[in-house]
Amino acid sequence: MQLQFYNIINDELRGSEDTHTVTDPRTEEELWPCPIATASDFEDAVAAASKAFLTWSQTSLAERQALLVKLADNIKEHGDELAAVLARETGKSTILANIDVQAAVAQSLYYSQNGLSDEIQHEDDHSRVIATHIPIGTVGAICPWNFPLILSNIKIVSSLVTGNCVIVKPSPFTPYAVLKHIELARGIFPPGVLQVLNGGAELGAAMCSHPGIHKISFTGQTSTGKKVMAACAKTLKKVTLELAGNDACIVLPDADLDKAVPSIASGGFFNAGQVCVASKRIYVHEGIYDEFLERLVREVEEKYQVQEDGTVPSVFGPVDNKLQFEIVKGIIEDCKRRGFDIRTGGKTVDVAESGKGFWLEPTIVSRPEEGSLLVQEEQFGPVLPILGWSDEDDVVRRANLANAGLGASVYSRDLKEAERVARRLEAGSVWINQSERPNFAAYFSGIKDSGFGGEMGRQGLLSYAYTKCLHFTK
Ligand code: NAD
Repeated sequence: MQLQFYNIINDELRGSEDTHTVTDPRTEEELWPCPIATASDFEDAVAAASKAFLTWSQTSLAERQALLVKLADNIKEHGDELAAVLARETGKSTILANIDVQAAVAQSLYYSQNGLSDEIQHEDDHSRVIATHIPIGTVGAICPWNFPLILSNIKIVSSLVTGNCVIVKPSPFTPYAVLKHIELARGIFPPGVLQVLNGGAELGAAMCSHPGIHKISFTGQTSTGKKVMAACAKTLKKVTLELAGNDACIVLPDADLDKAVPSIASGGFFNAGQVCVASKRIYVHEGIYDEFLERLVREVEEKYQVQEDGTVPSVFGPVDNKLQFEIVKGIIEDCKRRGFDIRTGGKTVDVAESGKGFWLEPTIVSRPEEGSLLVQEEQFGPVLPILGWSDEDDVVRRANLANAGLGASVYSRDLKEAERVARRLEAGSVWINQSERPNFAAYFSGIKDSGFGGEMGRQGLLSYAYTKCLHFTK
């Protein structure tokens, strides 16, 4: 497959003398040259967006939503091509890559039906106050590598349905599908409304400090999020930060293990654990600990194995890039050094028959120390700690970390009991009897170090708008 990729500025294809390639995480083959946007490309994109905003911001919600339907149709039409590119750059199997594509279609359709409308905030005999939600300007969408299309497209459709222009910056580890998506969408929106630039930290930092960008929607690591927020302060940009999670999963003594075990295996090992809301720490009641552990190990050994052939239907894959591969390897090596009980997996090199690729076995560690790296920091890879508990206050205290609060999950046959525990967990989203899967209609946000503001649902859209009040006297 030989492909060309371009930055998209004012609906035009723009190459660059400076290019980089991405390494296929399955095979370590070098993929296609990808143009790196220059400072003048960036200035051109900001100027095109500022010009486009003058008319785009005046369009009606219905007009914009009709174009989101076209965007969804376009992703559907080119779904196979986008999935093929995305599979190569992320190492995902065909089935996983298709999930990314289908979710991008579903997001676009969701916002084609759901936008912000005016609301009456006060009414009495003398006055009436109407709140209206107006666009902010140009949004800079800075994206990570784990779900390239889903996580960039949510920022695209949220920006566009609210009347903003958007400049997307994919992760340099996974630029291809996002560049292709926006290239293929040319002609749907007026020039300058939807643009994309490939680049790394330097371009991201430039977006945060440029006065012509009015909001940054960032998804990535907490440490980068702090830099983004500091840089945005200088121009008082609106900022949304979707950051790292370290989700606790609490299994109550009456949990239905026939359902909980497969669900938790998926929570921990879907996409090899590279999910912001993956289950990252499993706390199992001592009364069922041994049985749970045995069943989880069996489930993971049967269903989450290294499959070098990406066409095999599997939701397990390699680690996306060498940098993250080394981080996860380091965590597993730390577990070994400390003599923790590794119940399955743990091999860190040459797992694949070819000896190539960033493959790690799905790894389960029983009862690591609470203060260890594996428990306290986000692993973002296929290694999962299983811890025991017997006292509810104690497990809630351990689950509620000071440095993270993205998601959590609780398993119990008794929904009232599960809800009671869920309400004690300090996280932006808590799932009951299911692994963590965001829902487009539901606000998605991290508390504490896991974020600032949030996206999705009506509340998420509000972060892409100013709310202006019109005060009428009767
Ligand atoms: P990262 O922070 O390394 O990079 C994210 C993006 O920021 C990239 O596009 C990168 O080029 C850019 N960037 C780097 N330095 C920058 C700077 N100084 N200023 C502006 N932009 C800069 O994150 P990553 O490794 O790509 O992503 C993985 C992380 O993202 C994990 O921690 C994961 O939990 C988190 N994540 C969170 C969510 C969520 O919704 N909360 C979703 C997915 C991933």
